[in-house]
Amino acid sequence: MKITGLTVYQVDLPLEHPYWLSGGRLKFECLDATLVKLETDAGITGWGEGTPWGHTYVPAHGPGIRAGIETMARFVLGLDPRCVLEVERAMDTALPGHLYAKSPIDMACWDIAGQAAGLPIADLMGAASRTPRPIASSVGAKTVEETREVIARYRARGYIAHSVKSGGDVARDIARIRDVEALRAPGDIMLYDVNRGWTRQQALRVMRAVEDLQVIVEQPCETLDDIAAIAPRHATPVSVDETLVTLQDATRIARDGLAEVFGIKLNRVGGLTKAARMRDVALAHGIDMFVMATGGSVLADAEALHLAATIPDAHCHAVWACQDMLTVDIAGGRGPRNIKGHLHLPEAPGLGVHPDEDALGAPVAAYR
Ligand code: MG
Repeated sequence: MKITGLTVYQVDLPLEHPYWLSGGRLKFECLDATLVKLETDAGITGWGEGTPWGHTYVPAHGPGIRAGIETMARFVLGLDPRCVLEVERAMDTALPGHLYAKSPIDMACWDIAGQAAGLPIADLMGAASRTPRPIASSVGAKTVEETREVIARYRARGYIAHSVKSGGDVARDIARIRDVEALRAPGDIMLYDVNRGWTRQQALRVMRAVEDLQVIVEQPCETLDDIAAIAPRHATPVSVDETLVTLQDATRIARDGLAEVFGIKLNRVGGLTKAARMRDVALAHGIDMFVMATGGSVLADAEALHLAATIPDAHCHAVWACQDMLTVDIAGGRGPRNIKGHLHLPEAPGLGVHPDEDALGAPVAAYR
């Protein structure tokens, strides 16, 4: 089987409500999605998506994906999409770095490989748990009272996992964590996500003040060096998100004991092929995981769900459904959808969901 065509679509995915990053530093109103259709000489078509979380959150940005694909396309055409490692190496040869530009092509190859094998991607990857994965809420409230109200609304919809955005004010962050923990229900999965919002001294003040609660704090500081510098001076468990980009990041974090949890975001780390290695590093070092789309439609959520299904249940805390934050649906209600705060693995071969091509507009590029 050979890749014979690569077609690129750009789609705006407006957010239902403007999204403020932890601490109110960055505001997003629309996501810039790139959809990739891979065609083969076997008549099987695969789809991939790359949707960064805005242009200013991490180095990944929408136009960069499309520019990267333009550079990589001729290295990928003619390859067998089922040989995902060969496609990965071709992309890495054509364009060092820029992992986020590679994820849509990698995802479309896995989609084709799954369809060719007659298996959902997670089964093809070797282990697919059918346990529904809890969807983490995104609680971006300002005050302690608002935080309570937002979590209560999510709970009423069946959510048991919550990502409580923190950062901005040390005293309020400590009060917020203590208040949410006081109301924690059995089985709740709580994450306090700072999105790099604290300086080292702010992180130390909060993480020391809540040590008795043993909550998980995600991405407290800007860099891995920051996280490493404060690690010996507090006893609060850490999750890494934005600073987990490469396999080398993963091995450093594991070896140096910089985090107890990985937040693996598929677009940022370069797709399923590269993310699967991070999963294995995590499992080999007793590190638990959250697996999420960086952003995007039900396609991106489905990709993350497939990887999450390959993680033993006890080590996979939650996934995410970015689709619930959007005002458009490019797949007409198909694919894994939010059922009482959980996502269920699709049983169809491959990714398990394709977009309505008519809903994507005219392609912005096509390579043959
Ligand atoms: Mg995070």
